[in-house]
Amino acid sequence: MKELVGKSVQELRALLGGKAVSAREVLAAHRQHIDSVEPELQAFNCLTEDLAARQAARVDKLIADGEVLPPLAGVPIALKDNICVPGYPTTCSSRILESYRPPYQATVAERLQEAGAIFVGKTNLDEFAMGSSTENSGFKPTRNPWNTAMVPGGSSGGSAVAVASGMSVIALGSDTGGSIRQPASFCGVAGMKPTYGRVSRFGLVAFASSLDQIGPLGRCLEDVAITLSVISGHDGKDSTSLSLPVPEYVKELTGDVEGLRIGVISELTGQGMDAEVLESVELAARQLGQLGAGVEEVSLPATRHALAVYYLIATAEASANLARYDGVKYGYRHRQAEDLLSMYRASRQEGFGVEVKRRIMLGTYALSSGYYDAYYKKAQQVRRLIKEEFDRAFARFDLLVCPTSPTVAFEFGARTGDPLQMYLSDIATIPVNLAGLPGISIPCGFGKSGLPIGLQLIGPTLGDAQVLRAAHAFEQATEFHKKRSPVLSAA
Ligand code: GLN
Repeated sequence: MKELVGKSVQELRALLGGKAVSAREVLAAHRQHIDSVEPELQAFNCLTEDLAARQAARVDKLIADGEVLPPLAGVPIALKDNICVPGYPTTCSSRILESYRPPYQATVAERLQEAGAIFVGKTNLDEFAMGSSTENSGFKPTRNPWNTAMVPGGSSGGSAVAVASGMSVIALGSDTGGSIRQPASFCGVAGMKPTYGRVSRFGLVAFASSLDQIGPLGRCLEDVAITLSVISGHDGKDSTSLSLPVPEYVKELTGDVEGLRIGVISELTGQGMDAEVLESVELAARQLGQLGAGVEEVSLPATRHALAVYYLIATAEASANLARYDGVKYGYRHRQAEDLLSMYRASRQEGFGVEVKRRIMLGTYALSSGYYDAYYKKAQQVRRLIKEEFDRAFARFDLLVCPTSPTVAFEFGARTGDPLQMYLSDIATIPVNLAGLPGISIPCGFGKSGLPIGLQLIGPTLGDAQVLRAAHAFEQATEFHKKRSPVLSAA
């Protein structure tokens, strides 16, 4: 049983297709592993056992009937707990949604289900995806499987841990400013934010709608590529989803980066980044050069303003999106209030955590009359400049690279007292969301303490395939992705 944990999508497919194992056995092996490591890691808000059993039975029936297996048949997947699956809570790790059970299914969940995936559970996150460590979860922090004294990153920390520890093969996260890539980097797995609009956001609880994007995490690039093909594509239920054909991303994994022009972003490979991170990223860039890519420095001065711009736009959008949690329509309601206004106030006061309140206040301020032009409008203008700067860079380069995060995973509590320190975790990922571009984090080294380091590859709009291709070529030429977290290698 144990040997079924830690496998890739294609490995499982071969075993299932050859009738060497059943989907039920694959699921049981993962359940057993979850039982042994989850008490310490705390990656899940809930396990979706009944659903998983039904999904596995369906896949076994396909196998028995000799049907062609869909691309994710029998593959255990974890979903971030801000993605709606009916029959189970969708909490966003917030007290205000603790009892919320969505009546509808997210489009990504529907597509995964059709592709034969087995949903093992809903993963922990920073409340409403606001944070970089899962310490803002209203329920519990999740621990990093490489060293349980460290945070796993965030906000999709639970999803990254599920994959890195082997509790699932793949996972979905959401990324508004780095929430897939940064935890992927901290947990030594691959995590991709697709081009904005590539994947439907229907059924994803909104944080900042012009930035949010769902994407896959996996232990190898092939798993990420297969999952991305499954979840991508137009959806009439999300007006921002792009109406364009979806490539079979896995076919793009040719291993070839010959002639690719790669720019190393100078603003994100200097000051503010830890030396060990820079060293690994420089070696990685050199390696890409040895594989045949042309590697040069490129300057993107406007990215310096990205963090400030993000914390105006993301908070402004969040303040609007989170206005719906008023104790009437959703979740938690304060019961003793004497009038409506006090009920609103008490429900929100008790239901939201500190960081969420901070963001609602910041965003409301940025949008208020008298300050709107100075803050929100100005931020939108600078966002445009950042986007244009990327466009100019992509006239000269096919891909850009930099570290995913300035540091490796940090200790619990190290940044909770200083929001700005926490925000700086995403200094290299946020510009990518502001410009709507595809970006991936892949393992590219280990720090002195043995913790994983992530390389970020960024592509032009709809350049998802070339991002995957270069990441895969690097993966194939290196050994970093083969090193497993102690929790998984002991399985
Ligand atoms: N850490 C960033 C924030 O706190 C990004 C979060 C995300 O991508 N959801 O907003």
